[in-house]
Amino acid sequence: MSGNGRRQGGEPHAPAGGIEGQKGDGRCDVVIVGAGFGGIYLLHRLRALGMTARVFEAATGVGGTWYWNRYPGARCDVESMQYSFSFSKELQQEWSWSERFAAQPEILAYANHVADRFDLRRDIQLETRVTAATFDEGTQRWHVTTDRGDSVSAQYCVMATGCLSTARLPDIKGRESFEGATYHTGYWPHDGVDLSGLRVAVIGTGSSAIQAIPVIAAQAGTLTVFQRTPNYSIPSRNCAMTPDYEGPWKAAYDIYDATDSNYGVNDVSAMDVSPQERERVYEQRWATGGTSFMAAFNDLITNQASNDTASDFVRSKIRAIVKDPATAEILCPKDYPIGTKRICVDTNYFEAYNRPNVKLIDLKATPITEITPKGVRTTAGEFEFDAIVYATGFDAMTGALTNVDIRGRDGIQLREKWHGGPQTYLGLMTAGLSVLSNMIVSIEQHVDWTVDAIAYMRANGLATIEPTADAEIRWGQHVNEAGERTLYTKAASWYMGANIPGKPRVFMPYIGGVGVYRQECDAVAANGYEGFVLTARSDAHACPAAAAE
Ligand code: NAP
Repeated sequence: MSGNGRRQGGEPHAPAGGIEGQKGDGRCDVVIVGAGFGGIYLLHRLRALGMTARVFEAATGVGGTWYWNRYPGARCDVESMQYSFSFSKELQQEWSWSERFAAQPEILAYANHVADRFDLRRDIQLETRVTAATFDEGTQRWHVTTDRGDSVSAQYCVMATGCLSTARLPDIKGRESFEGATYHTGYWPHDGVDLSGLRVAVIGTGSSAIQAIPVIAAQAGTLTVFQRTPNYSIPSRNCAMTPDYEGPWKAAYDIYDATDSNYGVNDVSAMDVSPQERERVYEQRWATGGTSFMAAFNDLITNQASNDTASDFVRSKIRAIVKDPATAEILCPKDYPIGTKRICVDTNYFEAYNRPNVKLIDLKATPITEITPKGVRTTAGEFEFDAIVYATGFDAMTGALTNVDIRGRDGIQLREKWHGGPQTYLGLMTAGLSVLSNMIVSIEQHVDWTVDAIAYMRANGLATIEPTADAEIRWGQHVNEAGERTLYTKAASWYMGANIPGKPRVFMPYIGGVGVYRQECDAVAANGYEGFVLTARSDAHACPAAAAE
């Protein structure tokens, strides 16, 4: 391949709904559910192992979250130079990002470029949703079915379905009755939406809304934002990529350890410096922009007093930016520590409230009572709109898994098993069946570990790998203990399942750090997959393909 090639692939061009030369029924080594970054990298690794894999993807193209989230202003809040695959040095060096924080179309083009560059499309079946995956104990294989009538038998089934892929519309009375247009940021129409001159409502003020609001405000006639919980947001300071910025990153890729959670952390407590020095450091991080603000001191997420200083600093910035003091006060988060809900990164978010066409409604003071045919009614009265944008988030972490009918040994259903919260070992496998980071880094680590496990099984003539119930319990306790050493559990966030009514409140992500997590996973593998039960194949013999890996 010559040149960058990144402009070729903005949209998919794989045959929809079928893999050329393959029938709907059949056998393969691995079924992969989802063609986001995880699914496409997994396919690439399995092919190198000499294994056959089929990817089923509900969308009409690859890219996962970057395929669906096309709302105005959508861009990554991890720097482009870090939001890139590291598995191919050539890919790393030949690709050029155009901005410090890439926008959604460019990240989608990157996903398409990766699919083309590694010839992945021939094993990806688009517009196909997996409906069920059932483990057959007799054959020790998974039986996977789809909404297009496919029926596939596979030794392994990997759900590469993402943490934030099940968009969620809130259960507000009368939602269906609205006569204007309704949108969700996570399912934005592909042809874009012209909101010029319209009366627009945005419900929600999470990361998606914070990116969308300034862009919608510039287009809409009027914009009314309905806020339940204010968010801390740091300016991105996004800018065009320059050779001077890109060059040192590319030169350092070989030595940069993306899993080093302490990268860029100012290794001193906020309590051990003078107030003047603290202010200087915060000002500097604010001027630099992005999520590295939380690395201004080494204890912002573990020490309440330290965290208070950072929270105060951001509140002072909000009050300085937003001209109307009453609006500024509503926008200041006060009842949870900074960083314990995912910190937001914006471009002119707070500034948008200085526009004459933008209004903020505080739902804590005047909650929504219903959606009406004409708009939104709160306890303060009815507001009329032409369009309502729901920026209300996702059924995070478990939603995409529990939406598929997954049944393991003894017919155990995943949905049932996880009724009281997810039980997994290493967050990767669950018995009876089998995030707080730069997602690309974690995706690569998860895929590498999974592929190594599959290679180990093939080399040793093993048929199944399944965590013990005890290992799951110990892992769950470990995740919780790690969470409780921080301030994370003090916020009602999607990390806790708190955004879904009735969802069990369990701290789901592992907070020990990506590097520590990788060491733990590697140690489990090095100890012969400690915590797992491995069963032999009836025709057990070492597999040469695995030995070659
Ligand atoms: P979110 O963070 O879950 O935010 C949802 C918003 O909707 C919250 O403000 C929530 O308020 C509000 N909401 C939910 N139900 C409501 C109701 N019934 N009435 C009023 N308000 C309601 O979702 P998101 O903004 O889509 O972001 C989710 C995650 O996706 C982020 O945390 C981030 O990890 C990822 N993301 C990343 C990027 C990026 O890389 N740039 C961009 C977008 C999203 P409460 O807080 O009160 O529940």
